[in-house]
Parts: sequence; structure tokens; C-alpha cells
Amino acid sequence: MRNIWLILTYLYRSKEVLFAVGWFLEKPNGKRLREFCGFCASLLSTLIVPAMAYTMLLRNCGQLLTLAGPATHLPLAGENQRNWRVIPDGYVACVDDRIVATGPMAELDDTLVATATIVLDASGQVVMPGLVECHTHLVFGGNRAHEFQRKLQGETYLDILASGGGILSTVRATRAASDEQLLEQALHHLKGFREYGVTTLEAKSGYGLDAETELRLLQVAREAGRRQPVRVVPTFLGAHVPGPEYRGHPADYLHMLVQEVLPNIYPEEVPFVDIFCEEGAFSVAEARRYLEQARALGFQLKIHAEQLHDLGGCEMAAELGAISIDHADYLTPAGASRVARVSGGRTVAVLLPLVPLFLRQERFAPGRAFIDAGLPVAISTDFNPGSCPSKNLWLALSVACLKMGLNPAEAVAAVTLNAAWAVGQQRECGSLEPGKRADILLLHVPSLEEIPYWLGENPVQQVIIGGRIQHA
Ligand SMILES: [Zn+2]
Repeated sequence: MRNIWLILTYLYRSKEVLFAVGWFLEKPNGKRLREFCGFCASLLSTLIVPAMAYTMLLRNCGQLLTLAGPATHLPLAGENQRNWRVIPDGYVACVDDRIVATGPMAELDDTLVATATIVLDASGQVVMPGLVECHTHLVFGGNRAHEFQRKLQGETYLDILASGGGILSTVRATRAASDEQLLEQALHHLKGFREYGVTTLEAKSGYGLDAETELRLLQVAREAGRRQPVRVVPTFLGAHVPGPEYRGHPADYLHMLVQEVLPNIYPEEVPFVDIFCEEGAFSVAEARRYLEQARALGFQLKIHAEQLHDLGGCEMAAELGAISIDHADYLTPAGASRVARVSGGRTVAVLLPLVPLFLRQERFAPGRAFIDAGLPVAISTDFNPGSCPSKNLWLALSVACLKMGLNPAEAVAAVTLNAAWAVGQQRECGSLEPGKRADILLLHVPSLEEIPYWLGENPVQQVIIGGRIQHA
């Protein structure tokens, strides 16, 4: 008996090693091996882990939003974005930091519930995956409350930027801040995100705009990830706007980034390179050249495009294989169809509905038309000091329903599984499935329909990250 137990333990540890190996193989040339490791780990999870007693069990879940659906190797698109599995009266079981089983309560194997199992009763409550916040500008100095009044008096985002305000005022505050001050502020914001149920978060640089400060911001983002439980995925957005020293010379600024910054960051640590393609920032031609250079160095690509004008940045980035195209308020349904086709359904449109709201713009991305065109849609806050100082992803979800035409199921998929795809974390999080990290939320609402309904409210009662209950 003891030998059998040792063999089971050995196989269970092998599974963990396989997960770890798979997780480290981020490079494209490691993809096959990574998928093989993932497959073996899942197989061992299925065969072995059920023999281990559960360390945590959420039982009697009023509605269990699994986000598991038709088998797909792509982000959820079209009907799949709303037709994922909801289990009434369900359970989720975890061993250590992993989900090992989900299903209806009638199928729960009570023999795996031990005295040491932490049991949470979720009667009458929604249980769902932790939120994935796939587009934030987490690290910055100061804030821009002083510009709020100018905005209310009618000045536009581009007016304020042209007068030396906007991004450039945050750049001054960020350059002047110490690493410790930036880290303290980032940790403060992460705590706020955690209270909203965010368990994975993308964090962009982009308020340094010189080589030294941009590298500092990436270090601060990574350190913030190590200091608390939310998984932080860093993105290099040095190409936010040309640095003040390069005013009027965007191509020279990009050349500096390629020469002085990109060689000093590594795709294993900072997987994504992003650029703001817009009037006053970078042209489509400049963005294309820059993204091609970043791709050649092994980075995956993101773009801020079609936020204020329809320039064609989204299609260009999709042609280059971008993992996401972000904003897209001015992307047309025809353009969305072309993005879906050219990317083979791999590029996710990350919509940021709180931005036009905060900038007092009428135009919101036509999310309904995007989904109908087969383009996978994610939703994020775009948390940043200028155009969205809000961490409330639930509010963004509601506004996406109200102003972009998503239904509640589509909107929930947009802040979980599709958001995970948008940051390359779909194997780790975004749904409640065996093998994934145990990032789970208990909400104090009884049904999916009530999530977007209570406008601006935080429905989170309990946050679990990696199998551990988080306390405020
Ligand atoms: Zn942004």
C-alpha cells in the first residue's frame, strides 16, 4: 500500500514538473514540446490527481460558470463566445494550486473530501474564474486629476497632449519618481484590482519614454508581480508616444528603442511589445516596421489602434500575427471581418469601453458586430492615469453590454477566457477546467444575468488565487 502511495505521489510530482516545463517553454520553437508537456500533464491530472484528497472544495454552487465549451484551440468567437457551459448546482475541486474536477453536485466523489479539505458552500451564488485584466498601464507616477476639469470644459485628448499635458505630464512625474515610489503605487493599485477579483493582470510600461526609465518600469512591474499573488504579465510599450526629446521625430525615437531597449529585454520575461498607432503618436508604416523588428527578436505583438481614427493599424497588426488589437473604437465591421480572416481567428480585439466614457466620446467599438463577424472579443479597463483611472472591470463589462451590444455571457467570456488568450495565459487561467490554476471567484449574485445589471457594483464576495483564499 505504501509503495502504491509513493508511486502516486511520484506521478503527481511529475505532473507538476511537466506543468512547470510547459510553462517555461514560451518560445515559438518550443511550442510543440510545450503542447506535449501540457497534454501529458493533463493526462496525469486525469489519471492520478483524483486519487489525491481535495485540498479545497466549492460545493452547492448556484451557478458554476465554467467557461468550458466546445473544444477549441482558438479564443472564443461567434456563437462560442456565449455558448459555454454553465452548471447549475455545481462543484469545483482543487488540489494545491490546481483545479482537478468540476461538475454537477450529483457527480461529486465524496470519498476525496478529507477532514483537511477546505470546504466553501456557495449556495445561491455564482462561482466563476478569476478575472483576467488584459490591458493596463499599471506603473506610473502621480495622477492627472488636474486635467479632469479641462476635459469637462471641452478640451480633447489630443488638445491636451499637444499642449504638453496628457501622457507627457505623467512622463515627467514618472521619471521623477524613485523605484520604491513606483512599486508602492503599483502594489496599491494591484490590491485594488485584487479586491475586484482580478487574478491575472497585464502591465504595460510607457510612461518613461527614455531607455533607462522604460527598463525601470518593466522591472517594477515584474517586482510587483513577485510581491503579491496576482500574476503580472509585463508588456513593453516604450512606443506609447515619441519621448519629449524626440518631438517631431517619431522614426528616430523608434530607432532608439530598437537599438537601446529591445536588446535589453527578453521575451521570456516580457512577452509582448506594443505600440500606439494614432495621429500624434506613430503612423501605420512606422508601427509596421517597429513591430516587424520586435517580432524578429521573438516578441509577441500588441497594438493600440483605431482609438480615435480609422487608420488601418488593426489590420496591419493582425497581418503580422498580433495576439491582440486594442481599443478598435473606429474599426468597422468590415475591417473586423478582415482581421478575423487574416489572423485565422487568433487575434483578440480588446475593447476598452470605459475610455470613450471617460473621454466623453460618442463612439464606442461596435462589439456586437465584431462578434457577429467572428472576431473574438475581450474587455479591459485600460487602467491608466489619463483616459481611464478606474480598476472596476465589472463596470467595464456592464458598459460593454450597454454601449457595445454584448450580452452577459459574451461579456463574461470577454473578461475571463478571451482575456487570457489576449495575454497568452489561456493554458493557465480564464476558465474552470482541470489542470488550470485554481483562480476562482465567489460572487454575491445568484445568476449570470445579474452580473452586468448591478451597474458599478463589485459583486465579489471571495477571491481564491492559486488555491488560496485571499483576505482583504
Ligand atoms: Zn492602453
